[in-house]
Amino acid sequence: METNAVILGAGYAGVMAANRLAGQGVNVRLVSPDSRFTQRIRLHEYTAGTRTDPTVAFSTLLHPGVDLVEAAAEEIDAAARRVHLGSSPPLDYDWLVYAVGSANAGAPAGAIAPDRLNGAQAARQALQSLAPGEPVAVVGGGLTAVEVAAETAHAYPRNPVTLHAAGALVPHFSAAARTRLLRSLARAGVTVKTGQVDPEELPDAAAVLWCAGFGVPGLAAHSGLPVDAGGRLAVDSRLRVRGQDRIFGAGDAAVITDPGYGYLPQTCATAMPMGAEAASNILRALAGEALPAHDSGFQAQCVSLGRADGALQFLHPGYTPRRVHLHGRTAAVLKEVVCRMTLRWIRGEAKRSGAYTWPAGPRMTETTSALQAA
Ligand SMILES: Cc1cc2nc3c(=O)[nH]c(=O)nc-3n(C[C@H](O)[C@H](O)[C@H](O)COP(=O)(O)OP(=O)(O)OC[C@H]3O[C@@H](n4cnc5c(N)ncnc54)[C@H](O)[C@@H]3O)c2cc1C
Repeated sequence: METNAVILGAGYAGVMAANRLAGQGVNVRLVSPDSRFTQRIRLHEYTAGTRTDPTVAFSTLLHPGVDLVEAAAEEIDAAARRVHLGSSPPLDYDWLVYAVGSANAGAPAGAIAPDRLNGAQAARQALQSLAPGEPVAVVGGGLTAVEVAAETAHAYPRNPVTLHAAGALVPHFSAAARTRLLRSLARAGVTVKTGQVDPEELPDAAAVLWCAGFGVPGLAAHSGLPVDAGGRLAVDSRLRVRGQDRIFGAGDAAVITDPGYGYLPQTCATAMPMGAEAASNILRALAGEALPAHDSGFQAQCVSLGRADGALQFLHPGYTPRRVHLHGRTAAVLKEVVCRMTLRWIRGEAKRSGAYTWPAGPRMTETTSALQAA
């Protein structure tokens, strides 16, 4: 009998899940409002004008069996196993993967959030129209803010760039790695201001790039599915919604609420393993096998600081810093390799279902081990 899976969202998590399922003969419909894949991890390059196109044709990434449905999901009817789409007929499913991603949230009027394609397009235009000397403000303390500030400062050396961060920059870096990163930012011409961002200061900037806050689409909450306080779909350690055995969640839009998973950040390096695991667990459920708890960790985090500089912090599996960190051109080259690898991993999964593997997570706590054994 045919099995139908619907994947909502064609980002890193959704595309990985689609390829893994299609390669095992599952009928996959991948719902995406966009006609091309957006490499979000390259949007700072596009914003600053150092990359002409951050998108990739889906035809080069997807297993040939994946049916791309160009639409946005508007509501999930879990009881009927049906997804209502804005512009197309509804889709019925046997299995659903929820992977609709995230966006920076809370931008004040006049600020532009460059972390999605349309925002990056607007930010790129705003930067291009700056007169020499006009200041740029970047707000945020995470990876996106640091990469946007550094890339912009290198590309627009005649425009002063100030990075406003409420707390410590890249908090998962060691103090020594952060000191070196701050030196790189200073060399690039970025002024860093930490402490509560003063909205009164921002209007002085000719362009305000908002890279703070974290928001997800309201689709899960609107559909009556369990969500956390931020609206992320709440899933168990098997990436499955409690009480909804046919719905799995992956990537930025989902959160594992079982104990022991609080270390997982909203990154591409979290999203791809979750997408692959959600698909594997659907395949296991179809085969009548037990579903293992998700086990995913980290080895390193790379940050690009313009095209010729970067920082690479080696990490323990639980996203805490090791002693070793790299900087300068070597880190920039390694970051570029990692960005290319993301597409290679997706394409590898399209060629052979199950090809993509990832680092193991931190040693399981007793609670998580008990869950895994249950
Ligand atoms: C500038 C920048 C640099 C970054 N650098 C790194 C990095 O170096 N390393 C790293 O690990 N992470 C990095 N990240 C974070 C990373 O991009 C995200 O964590 C990752 O994209 C999450 O993947 P995802 O598949 O969950 O969601 P996304 O990639 O956001 O994809 C979700 C998709 O769902 C679609 N969608 C939304 N609503 C609906 C709907 N209703 N119906 C159907 N589809 C919908 C969206 O259009 C989108 O295409 C960076 C992010 C930015 C912005």
